[in-house]
Amino acid sequence: MIRLDKITKIYDAKVENKKALDEVSLTIDNGEFVAIMGPSGSGKSTLLNIIGCMDSVTDGSYYVDDIEVSRLNKLDIHRFRKKNIGFVFQHFALMDYYTAYENIELPLLANNIRRIINEQLKKLNIVEEKDKLPKKMSGGQQQRVAIARALVTNADIILADEPTGALDQSTGQEVINILREINNQGKTVVLVTHDINIASSTNRIINICDGKIISDEMV
Ligand code: ADP
Ligand code: MG
Repeated sequence: MIRLDKITKIYDAKVENKKALDEVSLTIDNGEFVAIMGPSGSGKSTLLNIIGCMDSVTDGSYYVDDIEVSRLNKLDIHRFRKKNIGFVFQHFALMDYYTAYENIELPLLANNIRRIINEQLKKLNIVEEKDKLPKKMSGGQQQRVAIARALVTNADIILADEPTGALDQSTGQEVINILREINNQGKTVVLVTHDINIASSTNRIINICDGKIISDEMV
């Protein structure tokens, strides 16, 4: 379970006192499929980055199950993120000079790397792309490589910041179908989107504005 208790984020108190997040409290149960919506600059990415342990909080507490993540030191946060979080980015964030295979290999340190990667290549229908560099693949294929990379460590929480934002509508829908499938397999999936159609494919839509949650509804 993900639990945020009055999370406030101020990026630089010296420059301006604007709160990117303003006392956000939120609980997401294991196995939920959630969309976060809101205007540009409302704090969506900040919220997702904090859930994904990629950014620290200014105030408040963040728990995953019974671990208070917001109290962990840097090394423990790094370990926690590696074990528990898979992250998918709008512009894929693949390594340009690594093939699909090598990109998916990156988060892995286990011995049975080859078996795990081949399984994901097959599942995400990118076996043919295995030895290609990202620039030789379509956007949809690149995003599937990025999703595979988020899945190989078997993290329970998959976070996606505008995963369809760089894709056309039908490719975007395919990516959402994949995320739905991942959710059906029991993973918690939280995505950020501008697109109400995408958000409607999830089970819960949280709207944020000026760093505050303004609505939180089951679809
Ligand atoms: P969204 O993803 O909803 O567009 P963000 O979470 O990226 O919004 O941003 C929320 C607010 O925090 C905005 O005012 C933005 O300018 C500010 N912000 C985001 N990232 C940083 C940063 N690294 N440094 C300073 N301000 C930031
Ligand atoms: Mg954003």
